[in-house]
Amino acid sequence: MSQVCEIKCPHCGQWTLWKGDVDDRCLYCDSFLEPQRFSREIEKKIVTQVKKENDYFALKPTDGRIKREVKIFFNSFRWLIYYFEIAFFIFIILSYKKAASFMVRYLDDRSAKIKAELDADSEDFFKRVMQQADQQQHAGMR
Ligand SMILES: [Zn+2]
Repeated sequence: MSQVCEIKCPHCGQWTLWKGDVDDRCLYCDSFLEPQRFSREIEKKIVTQVKKENDYFALKPTDGRIKREVKIFFNSFRWLIYYFEIAFFIFIILSYKKAASFMVRYLDDRSAKIKAELDADSEDFFKRVMQQADQQQHAGMR
């Protein structure tokens, strides 16, 4: 992606080579070709550096050996917690799936039971109707 092209220096107005890097300088006056971008980049670096140093567990050159090791331990521990959180969410999703399939199976069972009861009822009803018809037939024959 490093394409070299010519650009007019914003400082001296001479045409100079520009590779697209943040810290490209003019060949004639040695000033930055993109001073705003350069200062923005520097600012970003400083901000992230400050953020890192404000972090409680950030390693500082002034820390002693034990303090460093404790900090490294807690930093890895934080990563562990992070992974644990991910695992927890995966667990939640999987158990949700499990619960859903359990519900489906439960409802299937219930509907099968209800259907069986209804079938038994209608069979019973059918039997009774037949018995009644039988009795009426017998009564009629007498
Ligand atoms: Zn220049």
